[in-house]
Amino acid sequence: MDDCIIIGAGPAGLTAAIYLARFHLSIRLFDCGSSRAALIPRSHNHAGYPAGIAGKDLLQRMLAQAELYGAVREEARVDAITSNGENFEVRVGDRVMPARAVLLATGVVNHRPDMDDALHDAALTRGLLRYCPICDGYEVTDKRVGVVGTGDHGMQEALFLRGYTADVTVIAPGAAHDLDEDCRRALDDAGIAHVDGPCGGWAIEGTRLAVDTAAGRMAFDSIYPALGSDIRSDLAVAAGARATEDGCLEVDAHQRTSVPGLYAAGDVVKGLDQISNAMGQAGVAATTIRNDLTKRKPLRR
Ligand SMILES: Cc1cc2nc3c(=O)[nH]c(=O)nc-3n(C[C@H](O)[C@H](O)[C@H](O)COP(=O)(O)OP(=O)(O)OC[C@H]3O[C@@H](n4cnc5c(N)ncnc54)[C@H](O)[C@@H]3O)c2cc1C
Repeated sequence: MDDCIIIGAGPAGLTAAIYLARFHLSIRLFDCGSSRAALIPRSHNHAGYPAGIAGKDLLQRMLAQAELYGAVREEARVDAITSNGENFEVRVGDRVMPARAVLLATGVVNHRPDMDDALHDAALTRGLLRYCPICDGYEVTDKRVGVVGTGDHGMQEALFLRGYTADVTVIAPGAAHDLDEDCRRALDDAGIAHVDGPCGGWAIEGTRLAVDTAAGRMAFDSIYPALGSDIRSDLAVAAGARATEDGCLEVDAHQRTSVPGLYAAGDVVKGLDQISNAMGQAGVAATTIRNDLTKRKPLRR
């Protein structure tokens, strides 16, 4: 039986793999190859890389570091986790693997605007499409910025970006905005334009990303979708873990979920969706796993 099975090899899962392998614990690491970090063309807010680092390079470095200590990343999707109150069974296809502890580091998936994948990826690579104002709002300082979204979420994203540029427009993804009086007033007070959709006719035009709106065709230096996310907490929730209404896992200060022996770290947990936070939570989770396991079976060489 393995000491811990880690589900997800993004920044959270890989950090945990490095820690747990260096604690001399036996681990397995499963990943189905869809880390949000792999979408980052170049991160400039991740500490320690003054020239920035591409998300895929960061993941590769972290995996290489985990492998130094014997961790192996297996490309596979975990289908289910079950707990018998003490240990777990983790199902991958028709294999069932026992483990003393499980760490869920499965992240989230952003909802994308309705555009074809090739255009989406090209726009993302060029910074014409961006998903994380906290990460890269700095890069749009004084640029012409669009936010595709509506309601409170769209308004909050636009207000955040207003801290970087005076030229922000919120575009409704569907036909009409769903903005109550307070939202409209907040946008108006901040000098943020709001135009109805539906968004369509996406295309890269010169150095800008252009989109059709009810107010005509508009082009932006960068557009941020604010369309919400799917939280990949379903495995843990099915195993009995408590989650918020939107699906984020609830954990204690040591990254323990409400299911004994099941831990969570990174974007799947309620909190700041950032690499640094994913790494920090994973360090805490891994150390807690080690210490909790030691109470059950002393670790000795
Ligand atoms: C375009 C973009 C730019 C960003 N820029 C920055 C930035 O500059 N700085 C920053 O700090 N953050 C940035 N972020 C956010 C950052 O990518 C995330 O906060 C970070 O990746 C979270 O790490 P994680 O390990 O929790 O999840 P992820 O990196 O998403 O990894 C989760 C992993 O779990 C795996 N998985 C899920 N379900 C299963 C399953 N059932 N079985 C097996 N494997 C599974 C997935 O395949 C995935 O590899 C950006 C995000 C995007 C989309």
